[in-house]
Amino acid sequence: MIKFLDLKDVTALHKDEINQAVANVVNGGWYLQGAANDDFCHKFAQYIGTRYCIGCGNGLDALTLILRAYKEMGVMKEGDEVIVPANTFVATILAITENRLKPVLVEPRWDTFQIDDSLIEQAITPRTRAILLVHLYGRCAYTELIGDICRRHNLKLIEDNAQAHGCMHGDRRTGSLGDAAAHSFYPGKNLGALGDGGGITTNDKHLADMVKMLGNYGSERKYVFSHVGVNSRLDEIQAAVLAVKLPYLDQENARRREHALYYIRCINNPAVSVPTEDYWQENVFHIFPLMSPHRDELMQYLLDNGVQTAIHYPIPPHKQKAYAQWNNMSLPITERIHREELSLPISPTLTDGERQKVVDLINSFVPSRV
Ligand SMILES: *Cc1c(COP(=O)(O)O)cnc(C)c1O
Repeated sequence: MIKFLDLKDVTALHKDEINQAVANVVNGGWYLQGAANDDFCHKFAQYIGTRYCIGCGNGLDALTLILRAYKEMGVMKEGDEVIVPANTFVATILAITENRLKPVLVEPRWDTFQIDDSLIEQAITPRTRAILLVHLYGRCAYTELIGDICRRHNLKLIEDNAQAHGCMHGDRRTGSLGDAAAHSFYPGKNLGALGDGGGITTNDKHLADMVKMLGNYGSERKYVFSHVGVNSRLDEIQAAVLAVKLPYLDQENARRREHALYYIRCINNPAVSVPTEDYWQENVFHIFPLMSPHRDELMQYLLDNGVQTAIHYPIPPHKQKAYAQWNNMSLPITERIHREELSLPISPTLTDGERQKVVDLINSFVPSRV
């Protein structure tokens, strides 16, 4: 069976170094807010190209803390609007509603699956305070037009970089393109820990101090509380693991990109549509998305032939029961993506032979109806 993503194999790439780093923390006797956290955050900020990185518990917390900090700083208040792509993973939306802000869902483009920048300006109202840009599937969603809109309308640009660690836009990395960025180190992400982890990157000292304080009970200094905070920190073991894996991120992303280019060039079944070569630019392929009106049948056929795939995602946020108030909204492109998307195996540990098997199977797939 070719797994969609075999985390045992991914971890095994750096097993000795990881074991050593974990043992160092275990033996050191200091498990939170210590040297490993400082070391990783310093290296990650340098890698992303920002002045600050603050570790936190997970990617959702990173997003939630950024918005919460902006509220504490007086940049936004309850009821204000945040523009967000309608086809994102639900966590992006949860961070907005958790802060009692209003998500304004904007349709993606069918060719890039990223927010359609030509629809943003018409979604802006006097209450709009930010664009929460998601580099979905690992592809850069930033455009010069989006930067320009933020400047003209005085909006914060927040990046959800959970799926795009290492992605380049020109000579800058995603996570450094806006005012603040949220990162997830969930095990399956391109840079993944061995459990939950997250981080916030920014050049804004005030914001960095605020998210750090809010994630540490709202504590200004020990036992002195100026804000009603939460507990969301990156623990030492996860920070140490991430510091081991960070230097290999670029080469692992390069391998993902190799797989992607191969899929783009070699899959030629008219029953499926593969992204164009253009889509390959500015992309670290957290997900390789294939679109097909025969998605469910194709998925079953691949599984029957020993290839595990995934769907990102089967139900869009506005059709979820949790957001019943939006269930009647019509977002046709988003809904079509959720109906047709199929994610192929694209792990850095996927072999050339396995990749060929995936291609051959897809190219010989014949849907039962046309
Ligand atoms: C994974 C993910 C998150 C949430 O990260 P967690 O660490 O799982 O909380 C947020 N946004 C996007 C786009 C993600 O893919």
